[in-house]
Amino acid sequence: MKIVWAMVYLSAIFSLKLWAQDSSSFLDNFRYLTSFESFIKFNKVSDKKPQLKSEGREEVRRLHQSLFIADLHADTLLYPRKFLTKTVRGHIDLPRMQAGNVALQVFAAVTKSPLDVFFSPDSVREQNDMAGILFYQQGMSKKKLPSLFERAKFQAKKLHYFANNSAQQFIIIKNKGDLWQLQAERKAGKVMAGGMLALEGLHAIEGDLTKLEELFDLGFRMASPTHFFDNKIGGSAHGINKGGLTTFGRQVIKKMEALQMIIDVAHASPDVIDEILMITKRPIILSHGGVDGYCHSGVRNISDQQIKAIAQSGGIIGIGLWEVAVCGTTAMSTAQSMKYIIDLLGNANHVALGSDFDGVVTTHFDVSHLEMITEALLDLGVSSLDIRKIMGENFLRLLHTTLPTP
Ligand SMILES: [Zn+2]
Repeated sequence: MKIVWAMVYLSAIFSLKLWAQDSSSFLDNFRYLTSFESFIKFNKVSDKKPQLKSEGREEVRRLHQSLFIADLHADTLLYPRKFLTKTVRGHIDLPRMQAGNVALQVFAAVTKSPLDVFFSPDSVREQNDMAGILFYQQGMSKKKLPSLFERAKFQAKKLHYFANNSAQQFIIIKNKGDLWQLQAERKAGKVMAGGMLALEGLHAIEGDLTKLEELFDLGFRMASPTHFFDNKIGGSAHGINKGGLTTFGRQVIKKMEALQMIIDVAHASPDVIDEILMITKRPIILSHGGVDGYCHSGVRNISDQQIKAIAQSGGIIGIGLWEVAVCGTTAMSTAQSMKYIIDLLGNANHVALGSDFDGVVTTHFDVSHLEMITEALLDLGVSSLDIRKIMGENFLRLLHTTLPTP
């Protein structure tokens, strides 16, 4: 009994602490502290008050504020978050996106994620599932919960709900017209950000191509074939067999091209990446990851040869903010990985930001402090013109050639 009271007491103290700095209600914080989300050890920040270096700060701020910033990957939709109001949890919400001057964020729908991914990435089994617990906590019905397809739809509906209730401060990007609108409104000084839906792992279509079409109709414009385990489409970088594309996988890739969906090779096995690069004509994205030539620790960091092949397709590589991807958790580690690609290719046209905010990662800072990446790139001697490309314009170029016309 004493233990129960001690827990209630501690929860109340923590709730009060959070309440003091958070605009959500006391009850929300209490719910959070007693939830599964609060016990899982990811989407934390290691530094609550990251500081920019004092020298050249005005120059950094001015450049950062003038950028069109796009981030290629975040897992925010997995959690019971409000998004439209500022919270202290995780890495992203709309007010913090605005503070970080983010114009466009890709939100990935995770439909299945193994619990033991933190402990044994090489022996990940499909059976374990953490994502289901989070969706159950968010009120998904017991009938729909087992369906990965329904889980993807659930997350799409959440993003649409956020957009519909944002007083036009947040719109969903589905075609070139939406993109032009976002660019024009921001240029005119309006506070507006865009969100794009992506699928992290095509097991969400449950082996059915018509479900891919249905998800496209709900707004999904980008998808990676696999996530943490091998599936019906092909091998995962973390999988047991790590094979290539299956026959069904090749049909899926063809269908994605016909629908004008962007193919993301993050988490794919090396064989799947090579095969996709061989059979597709459209630009390929690696939304979030690292490069093997700079950081050898990541199980899925890509080789120089794959970087060149992605560039050859007209595609881009999003560099992350977490330890395993960039061998460090500072903005400088991310910037150095980006610089590696610039040096390898001789230009900055194929590198981007792929934070993995709100994913299975701890980052140095949240989205509101993205200015630190701009600063680190400047410190490395990257030109303002190239910083513009990396922080968003490369992705804009890719979207203007790949998204459907309205
Ligand atoms: Zn991921």
